[in-house]
Amino acid sequence: MNTSDRKPLIAGNWKLNLSSKKACELARAIADGSAESQCDIALFPTYLAATAVAEELKGSHVRVGVQDVYDAEWGAYTGEISPAACLAEGIGWAIVGHSERRHIIGEQEELLVKKARAALEAGMTVIYCVGETETEREQGRTFEVLSCQVRDGVLKAAPDIPADIIVAYEPVWAIGTGKTATPEIAQQAHEHIRGLVSKHVSQQKAELLRILYGGSAKPANIAGLMEKKDIDGGLVGGASLDAESFLEIIRYSRSDL
Ligand code: PEP
Repeated sequence: MNTSDRKPLIAGNWKLNLSSKKACELARAIADGSAESQCDIALFPTYLAATAVAEELKGSHVRVGVQDVYDAEWGAYTGEISPAACLAEGIGWAIVGHSERRHIIGEQEELLVKKARAALEAGMTVIYCVGETETEREQGRTFEVLSCQVRDGVLKAAPDIPADIIVAYEPVWAIGTGKTATPEIAQQAHEHIRGLVSKHVSQQKAELLRILYGGSAKPANIAGLMEKKDIDGGLVGGASLDAESFLEIIRYSRSDL
């Protein structure tokens, strides 16, 4: 059982789904249905919907973020959005290094560090994603891959692990596949990540760092995951697109259960 002081966080990554109108309706249903929640909640709509969702949720307990961000402020960067542009719209959170950005778009750790650093310096909260592919797991390289991503990514972007960096462990083989990591597999990875922060930064910072699990999390498996001592919440894709299933995940994740 996670008995730490780390407040659970349940984040919904909506990827390339939902029009602005539908995103606002879903955001409203989630906010209304989670008013009593003991967790932090954050939603990540598309860029096009993010401003409308932020407006819809203004003054509520639900935070709004973007699924990626660039490391320039303003200027000639066609197709990009910056931390300054997000903050001007009331959007304070960003995901960096999601596996779909790493493996479909081809983003490398060096770029992810720049993006995360720029967002943190501007005052955003960043969810930095790490995780091994299926081949890397089969080759027994999971811890080696996570060590590289934490050392060359997370710790370069946020060397002193401030409160506004959150790590998401997302095994690539579990994202959108219906194959969830067992709570034991996820716990081993989370413990490894926390251990790295303890070794390279401090035990105190490691104990404060929130580490989310992502990869086919759903109402049926969230409770088992959240029982593990190093799992502090979830980054949820598919199951966050339905208000009832996302609200069930939020309910199961309550720290007082
Ligand atoms: C994700 O998008 O980060 C994710 C974990 O997706 P899913 O829950 O659909 O596997």
